[in-house]
Amino acid sequence: MQLKDPTLLRQQAYINGVWTDADNGKTHAVHNPATGELVGTMPDCGAAETRRAIEAANAAWPAWRKKTAKERAAVLRKWADLIVENTDDLALLMTTEQGKPLAEAKGEVVFGASFIEWFAEEGKRVAGDTLASPWPDRRLIVTKEPIGVCAAITPWNFPTAMITRKAGPALAAGCPMVLKPAEATPFSALALAVLAERAGVPPGVFSVVTGSPKAIGGEMTSNPIVRKLTFTGSTGVGRLLMEQCAPTIKKLSLELGGNAPFIVFDDADLDAAVEGAIASKYRNAGQTCVCANRIYVQDGVYEAFAQKFVAAVSKLKVGDGTEPGVTQGPLIDAKAVLKVEEHVADALAKGGRLLLGGKRHALGHSFFEPTVIADVTPAMRVSDEETFGPLAPLFRFHTDEEAVALANNTEFGLASYFYSRDIGRIWRVSEGLESGMVGVNTGLISNEIAPFGGVKQSGLGREGSIYGMEDYLVIKYICLGGI
Ligand code: ADP
Repeated sequence: MQLKDPTLLRQQAYINGVWTDADNGKTHAVHNPATGELVGTMPDCGAAETRRAIEAANAAWPAWRKKTAKERAAVLRKWADLIVENTDDLALLMTTEQGKPLAEAKGEVVFGASFIEWFAEEGKRVAGDTLASPWPDRRLIVTKEPIGVCAAITPWNFPTAMITRKAGPALAAGCPMVLKPAEATPFSALALAVLAERAGVPPGVFSVVTGSPKAIGGEMTSNPIVRKLTFTGSTGVGRLLMEQCAPTIKKLSLELGGNAPFIVFDDADLDAAVEGAIASKYRNAGQTCVCANRIYVQDGVYEAFAQKFVAAVSKLKVGDGTEPGVTQGPLIDAKAVLKVEEHVADALAKGGRLLLGGKRHALGHSFFEPTVIADVTPAMRVSDEETFGPLAPLFRFHTDEEAVALANNTEFGLASYFYSRDIGRIWRVSEGLESGMVGVNTGLISNEIAPFGGVKQSGLGREGSIYGMEDYLVIKYICLGGI
């Protein structure tokens, strides 16, 4: 990996403004999923280092919250600018540790910076209320305050954007943050810390602790100083963290699993639907929580859609994300490949019709062929579980009511997508879908201005947007008497 600025690759944790090794001196190796090569090592920190980071955050909090929103915005704006200026290096770092194609990695870096830029501005607009008083001699005032020390735990599928989406609003609101990035992708997180330091984020306001998820997560969730935990990852781990936060009643933001339905109605523009389905399904090799997981196609257009879709999927180029033209990189690890393999085997054993792919890719490592299976039914595992890989299962449906019922038949409720040109149907289906986000005639919905988040067991809270700020604020009511 040839970085223009090699100092962006840091192999130490960043605690209270100091680059540091783990107390026990141990490290954890990080490998490139496309080649198996060693990318570097990260310190294997645990509870003690996390406690120090939390205490440092608490010590840094009063000065950070005392700054004006405009002063904080100036620092954050600089951080965002530095991220954008270093897009090439940050993208290469990301592709090397995570596997996604370089073009997607560059897109994520810019997308990631946009959250810091947006919230830097939004921080200036945090406002309260004055309420009509029921008493002649008292006034009722509502103010918003930063909640306090925040802990963040982030996944490997978006190694940059899942961090900035949390750190942006936290820091803009006046809160310090201690972050634990995923074990597979610590270097993107640490590079963000390098740039935060350069931008002038004060020591303790943003710390990155790498290492044991259980030990770090245990400290983050039990330490009473931490007022809020923000987590993106699987529903299972989210549930566990929620439980661990219960004794100290922490405020929670949880962005958990999805099982997104993608519905193609018979009046859809089929070419547009194919394009949207490819973008939604195969981006990041199918490893996003908003990826189309179940594709429902209405009976009348089923075969036509399947044919066009397979033709388009067969054009995807699998390979090392750093190679030009590659559109699908490797999966994150062997376990991820196994899950896709199991879902394929289960679907085929229960009568699914393999239209494309279906097996590990000839490139080896954790590469998997872009796969399409038709005649999929609700009895198959792909119907209930998030595949998190490049497998598109095509279900058949007949009526609108059936499509909505099938789409909602899951404990998840993050994103849904559908294609139709009929305005009545668009309203009815949008309102009928049980999900926090609905993409109509588009497969890409995420940006910093829109509220990202789920209902049901897909989580709590919203990230991005004017609503995302609320997750880092608490309301104070002041009753001013003696007037
Ligand atoms: P994924 O399937 O995306 O890897 P996980 O929920 O396992 O989802 O991981 C998301 C993040 O949660 C990662 O940073 C991971 O290290 C962390 N994590 C996993 N298990 C725990 C745990 N028991 N306590 C705290 N964090 C955890």
